[in-house]
Amino acid sequence: MILLDGKLVSEELKKQIAVEAAELLEKTGRKPHLVAVLVGNDGGSETYVASKMRNCEKVGFKSSLIRYDNTVTEAELLNKIKELNEDKEVDGFIVQLPLPKHINPDVITEAIDYRKDVDGFHPINLGRMQRNLPCFLPATPYGIMLMLEYYGIETAGKHCVVVGRSNIVGSPMSILMARNAKPGNCTVTLTHSRTQNLKDFTLKADILIAAIGKKNFITADMVKEGSVIIDVGMNRETSENTKSGFKLYGDVDFDEVAPKSSYITPVPGGVGLMTIVSLLKNTLAAAKREIY
Ligand code: NDP
Repeated sequence: MILLDGKLVSEELKKQIAVEAAELLEKTGRKPHLVAVLVGNDGGSETYVASKMRNCEKVGFKSSLIRYDNTVTEAELLNKIKELNEDKEVDGFIVQLPLPKHINPDVITEAIDYRKDVDGFHPINLGRMQRNLPCFLPATPYGIMLMLEYYGIETAGKHCVVVGRSNIVGSPMSILMARNAKPGNCTVTLTHSRTQNLKDFTLKADILIAAIGKKNFITADMVKEGSVIIDVGMNRETSENTKSGFKLYGDVDFDEVAPKSSYITPVPGGVGLMTIVSLLKNTLAAAKREIY
């Protein structure tokens, strides 16, 4: 079993990003600039956004955080998005999900200028992704592709089973794995909560991607010997034994499943770190006007 080490890969890719950011600064006098909009104080979102900002600074980007409390209206948020769309000093921005119930995430996502949509959630980017055209790829699926590429994992002709069909992870992941590209060219099965006899599918997976949001949901009896296991899950539980006061669990029961796998991502230290690298890569591409 080989551990797909998100820390190692992300550090390596960040070094390359930092070099390119420094070159851009020298050429244009500008650093790539990412803005994050954070609504409310959800513990997970706070942690993810802080980490995104910290990583921006590490690779020589400028980062700005705009905070709203939970009572912000959809109209107020849309006004801010309009401002950010027009601000020439902003290369890319993200609105951290989830949003409070009174705000429709689809309306917010579509309001973002797709040329600044470095999370890759805008329908134009998703449509262009499906057509294999240049676009901002959604950060988590993109990070998984970078990981597969780094380790030279063969995907062509393999059966990839994705568990979970969210707009931000499962669905785009299934499209990327099925595309005629490298990595890609898989035969893909996309499963979800209405799938009957899920185990019949997961047992046939050469590559299993779990994006469910349920701690240790994928157990050893559900996976094929020698398969590649990608665990997207980030399930936070409070813990008295950690400094942060919480512990992170994946969607895969790592201890049980790892011995059966050929490659596996740990949680933490796997896909989460790659998601941040993808966001940095998209922001750099936005600053360099490489895509649009
Ligand atoms: P969502 O809640 O949006 O989607 C979960 C998906 O899992 C849904 O499609 C749902 O099906 C499916 N599902 C739920 N229960 C079952 C079941 N019993 N059997 C089969 N499928 C099931 O979650 P996200 O996609 O946003 O996130 C998934 C996980 O990944 C979470 O733990 C999240 O924290 C984590 N995450 C990690 C990131 C990272 O950077 N590592 C980034 C984003 C998310 P249905 O559609 O039918 O409801």
